[in-house]
Amino acid sequence: MLLNSEIILKILGRMIQVISEKYKYLDKLDSEIGDGEHGSNMHRGFLAIKNDIEKLKKLNPGELLLKAGEILVFNIGGASGPLYGTAFIEAGKVIRGKEEISEDEIIEMFDSSLKGIKNRGKTELGDKTMIDTLEPAVNKLKTSYLAGSDWEIALLEMKESAREGMNSTKDMIAVRGRASYLGQRAKGYVDPGAASMYLLLEAIVDTIVKKGE
Ligand code: ADP
Ligand code: MG
Repeated sequence: MLLNSEIILKILGRMIQVISEKYKYLDKLDSEIGDGEHGSNMHRGFLAIKNDIEKLKKLNPGELLLKAGEILVFNIGGASGPLYGTAFIEAGKVIRGKEEISEDEIIEMFDSSLKGIKNRGKTELGDKTMIDTLEPAVNKLKTSYLAGSDWEIALLEMKESAREGMNSTKDMIAVRGRASYLGQRAKGYVDPGAASMYLLLEAIVDTIVKKGE
C-alpha cells in the first residue's frame, strides 16, 4: 500500500502550506506576463480546501480527489482553476472505489491528470504553461520506474524533471492564456502556472518520500 486517504490528506495539507507561503511569489511571476493574481487564485482555492477538510476526512481516496477538484474549480477561478480542478478530478476517477493505491495506479493517475489538462486547455508541451512542468515530470516517473528504479528514487527524479520543466518555460513564448498576448515579451520569465505546478508536485513527492519519518 502506498497511498490512502490519510496520506492524500497529508499531501493536501502540505499543498495548503506551500501555497500560503509562496502565493505572493506566484502573483509576482504572473504580474510579469499576466494579470498578477495566479498566486492569490491558488491561495483562495487551497484555503477553501482547508475550510472543508473535516468533510474531506470522511471520504475514500477517489471521492476525496473528486471533491477537492470541485472545490478548486469553484475557488481558484481564472484559467488555471478548471485546469487544476480537472487534474484532481481525473486522478480521482482512476481510483474510484479503492481504499489503497499502488505505484502503477499512481502513475495512471498522473497520466490521466496530464491528459485531462491537455484536453481541456488544448495545450501541448512548449506552450509555456503548467504542462511544461507536468509532462516531463510524469514521463520521467514512468520511464524511471518502469526501467526498474526504486519507487522513491523515481519520485525524486520526477521532482527534478519538474523543476527543469518549470525553468524551461523561461525561454518560451506563450501560446495559451494571457501571456500569449505578449508575444516575444513573455520571454525571460518563468510561467506562473509552471511554477505552481512545480510546488504541487514537490508537495506530493516530499510527502510520499518522507512518510516513514
Ligand atoms: P488567468 O490566466 O485567467 O489570469 P491564472 O493567472 O490563475 O489565470 O493562471 C495562469 C496560468 O494558467 C498560466 O501561467 C498557465 O500555466 C496556465 N494556463 C493558462 N491557459 C492554459 C491552457 N490553455 N493550458 C494549460 N495551462 C494554461
Ligand atoms: Mg493570472
